[in-house]
Amino acid sequence: MAEGVNPSRRRFLEIGSVALAAGALTAAGGQTQQEVKSGEHSASSSLPLGKENAALYDENPDSVLPPATDHGNVPTFKYPFTLAHKRVQPGGWTRQVTVADLHVSKEIAGVEMRLIAGGIRELHWHNASEWALMLNGNARITCIDPDGRSFVDDVKEGDIWNFPSGYPHSIQGLRPDGCEFLLVFDDGSFDEYETVLLTDWMAHTPPEILAKNFGVPVSAFPPLPEEGRYIFPGTLPGPLAADQRAAQGSLGPSRLPFDFRLMEMPATKKAQGGEVRIVDGSNFKASPQIAAAHVILHPGGLREMHWHPNADEWQYYVKGKGRMTVFAAGARARTMDFEQGDVGYVQRNFPHYIENTGDTDLVFLEVFKASHYQDVSLSNWLTHLPPQLVFDHLGITQETLDKFPREERVVMP
Ligand code: MN
Ligand code: MN
Repeated sequence: MAEGVNPSRRRFLEIGSVALAAGALTAAGGQTQQEVKSGEHSASSSLPLGKENAALYDENPDSVLPPATDHGNVPTFKYPFTLAHKRVQPGGWTRQVTVADLHVSKEIAGVEMRLIAGGIRELHWHNASEWALMLNGNARITCIDPDGRSFVDDVKEGDIWNFPSGYPHSIQGLRPDGCEFLLVFDDGSFDEYETVLLTDWMAHTPPEILAKNFGVPVSAFPPLPEEGRYIFPGTLPGPLAADQRAAQGSLGPSRLPFDFRLMEMPATKKAQGGEVRIVDGSNFKASPQIAAAHVILHPGGLREMHWHPNADEWQYYVKGKGRMTVFAAGARARTMDFEQGDVGYVQRNFPHYIENTGDTDLVFLEVFKASHYQDVSLSNWLTHLPPQLVFDHLGITQETLDKFPREERVVMP
């Protein structure tokens, strides 16, 4: 590496000179299709301005200099949680990425939340259903089913939960250091700051009604904060079994567990390049409206070329680095780079792949507003057609087609 030139800038300069050479060729003679194709990054685009945000430049090599196959206007499908406003409260913090931030994300919105040990995300509910992945640490969660039976459980890293629309719930950070988790809502315009909070509601109900409703004197209720507690430091809970017993009373526990040990489940598909776990209404009964795939790609691994016929795909990058090209038809394609904490989005039926571009595992979630996970693998499709039809389209030989994977691999190689 030349001194003082970082790897991605160097790559940029190298490709830039190739583009300049292609430009010179064009000027000297006729235009071939290849030369026209590379026109978007020839000549002028190869001159570095030298005033760019260096960190963003390094994180987005495929935006700084798109691959020659990218073309046309495809609206951004990436938004880093880092750019979202962080609402910091005494018991933790939260931030959200909704359709207001990422305009293509109409079907799904996401929230990251951190709770200190004892920190409580207040008892609340909302219209959207809430699917969640624990990223770090431990929490105690509560809910109640439509029969009035209670659910109390502890969740750890790699566990998921789902609270259907209108089911009241809470989350509390446990020892040693609370928790950090991802919440996914099946509505792009969901607003985490406008949920129905227990204390907010109580504070806006006449005291004599509260007294009559619970059969206690008005004086039994101390004043509550005007806007609810939202996230606040609470009392660390005791043993789980005691909390479960106390909450159940004589009714017994909820018949439906609202959580699921996702990372304890064997991989749905495992390959040399990585593995995927698929969870939806068929194996997680409490999640009839959200389907998800948890993908681990080893360095160099590829989430194969595919698309989803039944829903948009909302992505969350848990760790590592990768890139994705989304093809939007009409000769429009765009490649963007992703890393930990980024949200990605692919509209229904837009084909795409995801490649691990780093030297560590790339871990990400694909989440769908759908009862069941569904995708179409390009390789599976092409190997299940009359072969001559494929030869006529792609100009490939029988020998080449014979090497294509004949079933969906999900991950390559
Ligand atoms: Mn909630
Ligand atoms: Mn996908």
